[in-house]
Amino acid sequence: MTEFPSAAQAVRAADIVVLGGGPAGLAVARLLHLRGLAPRVLERDAGPDARSQGGSLDLAERGGQLALREMGLFAEFEELARPLGQRLCLMNSDAEIQVDVDEAAGEYRPEIDRAQLRRLLIDSLPPEMIRWGAEVTAVTPTPDGRHRVSLADGTEVEAGLVIACDGIRSRARPLVTDEQPAYSGITFIHGDLRDPGPESFVARHTGEGILHAVGDNKAILAQRAADRSVRVYFAVRTEEDPSREQGDRFTDPAAVRRQLRETFAGWSPDLLAVLDEIDGYFAYWPLYGMPARQQWKQHSGITLLGDAAHVMPPFGGEGVNMALLDAVELVNTLFAPEHATLDDAIAVFERAMLDRMVGTILDTDASGEMLLSPAGAAPLAQHFAAAADAP
Ligand SMILES: Cc1cc2nc3c(=O)[nH]c(=O)nc-3n(C[C@H](O)[C@H](O)[C@H](O)COP(=O)(O)OP(=O)(O)OC[C@H]3O[C@@H](n4cnc5c(N)ncnc54)[C@H](O)[C@@H]3O)c2cc1C
Repeated sequence: MTEFPSAAQAVRAADIVVLGGGPAGLAVARLLHLRGLAPRVLERDAGPDARSQGGSLDLAERGGQLALREMGLFAEFEELARPLGQRLCLMNSDAEIQVDVDEAAGEYRPEIDRAQLRRLLIDSLPPEMIRWGAEVTAVTPTPDGRHRVSLADGTEVEAGLVIACDGIRSRARPLVTDEQPAYSGITFIHGDLRDPGPESFVARHTGEGILHAVGDNKAILAQRAADRSVRVYFAVRTEEDPSREQGDRFTDPAAVRRQLRETFAGWSPDLLAVLDEIDGYFAYWPLYGMPARQQWKQHSGITLLGDAAHVMPPFGGEGVNMALLDAVELVNTLFAPEHATLDDAIAVFERAMLDRMVGTILDTDASGEMLLSPAGAAPLAQHFAAAADAP
């Protein structure tokens, strides 16, 4: 019997390099590993615990949960997940409760800490599959249709297929699109209450879930983590600070407290007490997004997933869900029998991903407008009231 060439055969033959060991990169590696392949994951971090992994993520049924089922990790996820994390308390800037909802009444979207999710994915792979401390500096096409991946330590890796999951500052993105993520106009200043007691007003109202205190064009957002700490974000509309990078820690916490007291002047002292309760560092998180509608350039033997492809602010809670769904859809498309070549399969996957992201990014932008509104907490309260009335 004659064997026709297919994308699946090509993918089996290609040496695959995955850039980045975040949720998207680890998921794609796990799914390829389940199909008997051995991709190489290049991750900049020195090791799994090299840096704090950030807050808690809620996983949607048609996003993260579906991906965990496909990866054969759903039972492990359920042991770690926190359904109570779906409770949300909405206050105005006078600390008056506007809404107290259990979002589980809508869709089941349990929370998991980002660090726990990453560890679950890392442990599902053979240890030698991830090369730690491998910071990609450039990706260059070679004359024979492959790619050379250059690393900060001066070494190079060649690949027949590059799957770029290296997040917001993707080194591979310029090969695929001229667009860059744009600053959204909104910055989060993050701090943690590492071991809050019952005297903490913010921790008490965060409960096992989320507190949103919302005023005129600003908000204090708090979220419970699995280790009982509370992660707090001060969300403000402000200019970008070109002297800092996303995630940078401020060296002068007293100056940050002073600045935030000024910015949030007039807010309830109960809420502002959290400024003195934050017992770790403050960090800078300006929020960026790619355009909702993207046209990608002609490219071969390479694709982008997750934040590398479509980073967006976190207002819809969809970033990690879309990243995990991308991984599932890419691998399923690569192995679908109807695609003759790798590039055909990649083009089909990318079209579907970019189409799916249009609505997700527009909805996220609308959620951001609702959260940081000149009308304070009212638009968000109306949104929850309308959702409660919906049949
Ligand atoms: C403050 C905040 C809160 C959020 N909350 C939520 C939420 O509640 N729900 C939700 O769904 N999403 C949330 N997100 C978004 C979510 O975290 C991301 O969408 C998701 O992590 C994307 O996964 P990724 O693997 O594509 O990218 P990333 O998580 O960014 O992972 C990229 C990986 O690549 C590595 N890397 C980067 N550059 C290089 C390089 N040059 N060489 C090698 N490796 C490299 C990084 O170290 C990292 O491990 C939030 C984001 C922020 C900023």
